[in-house]
Amino acid sequence: MNSMKRLQTAKSFMIAPGILVAASLVLSACESGGAKGPPTEVVFTGQFITLDPENPKAEAIAVAGGRIVAAGSRADIERLAGTATRRIAIAGVAVPGWAEGHGHPPGVAPQPGVLDFYAMSKEQVLNAIRERVRRAAPGEWITGRAWDEGFWNPPVYPTAADLDGLSREHPMRFNRLGGHGSWVNSKALALAGITRTTPDPPGGRIVRDKDGNATGFLVDRAQNLLPRPAPDAEEDEQSETRLRAGLAQYARWGVTSVHDAGASLERIALYNKLLDAQELPVRVYVMASGDAAQRHYLETGPEPDVGGKGMLSVRSFKLMLDGSLGGRGAALTQPYTDASETRGVDMMTDAEFSEQIRRAREKGIQVNVHVIGDRAVTRALDAFERGGVTPADRFRLEHASVIKPEDVQRIAHLGVIASMQSVFVGEYSRWAENRLGPERVKWVMPVRDLLNAGVTVAQGTDYPASDTGDPIYTLFGLVQRQDAAGRPQGGWYPAQGISVDEALRTMSTSAAFAAFQENDLGKLTEGRYADFTVLSGDPYQTSPQDLRRLKVRMTVVGGRVTFDATENQRDEPR
Ligand SMILES: [Zn+2]
Repeated sequence: MNSMKRLQTAKSFMIAPGILVAASLVLSACESGGAKGPPTEVVFTGQFITLDPENPKAEAIAVAGGRIVAAGSRADIERLAGTATRRIAIAGVAVPGWAEGHGHPPGVAPQPGVLDFYAMSKEQVLNAIRERVRRAAPGEWITGRAWDEGFWNPPVYPTAADLDGLSREHPMRFNRLGGHGSWVNSKALALAGITRTTPDPPGGRIVRDKDGNATGFLVDRAQNLLPRPAPDAEEDEQSETRLRAGLAQYARWGVTSVHDAGASLERIALYNKLLDAQELPVRVYVMASGDAAQRHYLETGPEPDVGGKGMLSVRSFKLMLDGSLGGRGAALTQPYTDASETRGVDMMTDAEFSEQIRRAREKGIQVNVHVIGDRAVTRALDAFERGGVTPADRFRLEHASVIKPEDVQRIAHLGVIASMQSVFVGEYSRWAENRLGPERVKWVMPVRDLLNAGVTVAQGTDYPASDTGDPIYTLFGLVQRQDAAGRPQGGWYPAQGISVDEALRTMSTSAAFAAFQENDLGKLTEGRYADFTVLSGDPYQTSPQDLRRLKVRMTVVGGRVTFDATENQRDEPR
């Protein structure tokens, strides 16, 4: 079907206001040769996969005002160009722009002064700490992140005793990968005032030995007992720089929208500042977190489109019901297979959660709740049912890592969105079977079952709380159930793998739906914003094991190039 015929179809059926606007733009541009309607600003040519079943491929798209005015054959689109129209040939295959459906932007860039232990052996970790201690000022905190005992032999949690030999003078705090647990030394335990008699705080756990003494591993909110290593002022100064660096990295990864899974009022103010300065390189969908931010938006109501160009939206809350599987804070119905004394932690009571749901629904605010263990998933669904949540609310389960088979149908029935991270296959393949045993491990990330049941699955990475934030490994992981390095061989419970087509939809179309943006994003069709990710090859024509070798060549947000690998240059972001 050529573009003119499609426009007539759209007009006669009057599908949606956005489509009608687009139709009239193109018709006026055609009839007047572009003189009266908004002129076509850019024509992109190349190969486009639209994810529109009516018109799955295009050779060119025309863009005006940041939106696609037509997608079709090169000849048809060429007619929409005027004298001032720019032409950009894309060097690859474009797919609808990738969303980071659950990200933590300031954590994406490396943190200066914080040791990074990702993928290190325990010996390498201890050596790095020893080296850091030698250069530290007296009494200075030593901090680090992203160790994972899944890379160690044996794969067991470390203790304060491991660190006390390196220094008893410097307090030490090292976050486990994912940030849901901290390994500390005796000096840090002393500064926190943690003794044998200190009770576990709500939503947290102090791991103890047989005699009841703290071993030096603090789970979830027990970490709040520690004094803050860095003064607040210093963090403030760093936060804008780090936020900018994180957002720039998303553009290089081909990401066009990020769902920030937990932003304070201060961070939302920074997003507004970048928006006003036209310096946001990706669209931002905010999940407001913390009492202050949530109180604010319960008063003012949601802000679905700050600035009117789809660049910033604040209309959801991030809540937490449990911790992580790696930190053994994820709430399980039955005890952990490798720690029978615990079933994880609960961050909220049922009454508190129900009250939050009630208040948010009253204001038209979406609830996105962190649930990793099967008990947390069940509790969330129970609370949604009690609260009268309907599919129109589009409430989200963030992570939904372990799901009892009977809950898959309930998620579908309630119209709840599963916001998942296929890159977790890296971590989970290292140790989830130890945590859960041979039966429950089959409930981990059941993406195939969820799609079969009709659940909307949106994808993200949760980076830096995961192996990687690069969405090429989301695509690869969804299809192959393997980590970035192609492990494990043959895939991890590969029956839950999905097709390339399904995977691309979870990364764009479904992520857009999860943010109430399906009329604006997620497909390359008339009326939607011109957001796309250009890959080095056609993912449909790439063998599944080679999907991870595809490279991002260009990222385009609203018709504006935010990353260009071929020229290594970038337009000013919108
Ligand atoms: Zn997260």
